[in-house]
Amino acid sequence: MKYLDEYRDPALAKQLIAQIRKLNKGRKIRLMEVCGSHTVAIYKAGIRDLFPNIDLISGPGCPVCVTSTGDIDRVIKLTTMPDSILTTFGDMVKVPGSNSSLQQQISRGADVRLVYSSFDSLQIAKDNPNKRIIFLAVGFETTAPTIAATVLEAKKEGIENFYILCFHKLVPPAMKALLEGEQIHIDGFICPGHVSVIIGSKPYEFIPKEYKLPAVITGFESIDILQALLVILTRINENHPAVEIPYSRVVKPEGNPLAMKRMQEVFQPCEATWRGLGVIPDSGLKLRIKFMHYDAHQNYDLSVEEKPEPAGCECGNILKGIKRPTDCPLFKKICNPQHPVGPCMVSTEGSCAAAYKYS
Ligand code: SF4
Repeated sequence: MKYLDEYRDPALAKQLIAQIRKLNKGRKIRLMEVCGSHTVAIYKAGIRDLFPNIDLISGPGCPVCVTSTGDIDRVIKLTTMPDSILTTFGDMVKVPGSNSSLQQQISRGADVRLVYSSFDSLQIAKDNPNKRIIFLAVGFETTAPTIAATVLEAKKEGIENFYILCFHKLVPPAMKALLEGEQIHIDGFICPGHVSVIIGSKPYEFIPKEYKLPAVITGFESIDILQALLVILTRINENHPAVEIPYSRVVKPEGNPLAMKRMQEVFQPCEATWRGLGVIPDSGLKLRIKFMHYDAHQNYDLSVEEKPEPAGCECGNILKGIKRPTDCPLFKKICNPQHPVGPCMVSTEGSCAAAYKYS
């Protein structure tokens, strides 16, 4: 298929739905998507309601949502430092920490600036030589190469007042932690599309090899999702697990080697704390020693008292796939996109926000 319309073709969708139903007559299966954009696409197209025997659950696929309360509190603490400007993408502003959010900090006079690109922070650093500019780096493998390029550019230009507060996370280790944790039974994965553009298919090979489960990398149109379900069901029925890429129009098995090289030049894996999943080894990124000058963790005291989730909020269990947004007693009653209690309602890619909008 060549054109976008073809990925929304109702006749093809009907055909795929019929094929999936034919293959899925037996036991109930549970599939997890680990990508906020897939979560939104599945809710938007109403795919969850099409197949009573397929339980589609969302995992830790939204980078804003998986950022822990403690890390949000560290960001809030940074905004109280003198002569500092925090730069961030807009979706982090409303995420509540234990006592405040960036939005509240802005209303209290903190210098927090929204940027469209991490490179905008470099210009702010040049325009404010007497201040320290800290960019809040949150995201998966998709955004890390651009942040790496920003650090390389800062070094090249000799910009000394620019720092990264790095909470980047890597998706495959979180998928492994979910399988190891055994808190939830999973029969197959819909792997993240955008992340896979960068990392390719190899990092998911442990899924069929060690856990005998199929994993499919797919896109974000209805036909993409339906094709992914068909591939997974075929693999399950044939008892032949593998990683497959129906999204081959965008994702290559080797990913994007240039982006990976840039990311690995600047960052190295480290343990990271995920909301709901806790500490996972080698699931985060930190700056390599030669770029330590740019590391906000090295230049500021970011210790905070670790606090639990907001009372009643089920974000942690939703990110593990154990609960759904509608299981949360606060969903739509107290918590909504205008007044979010947890991060899954803040980000447009959060499960609660998607459920609120489309279910
Ligand atoms: S509905 Fe709100 S409070 Fe409940 S889990 Fe979602 S974000 Fe948290």
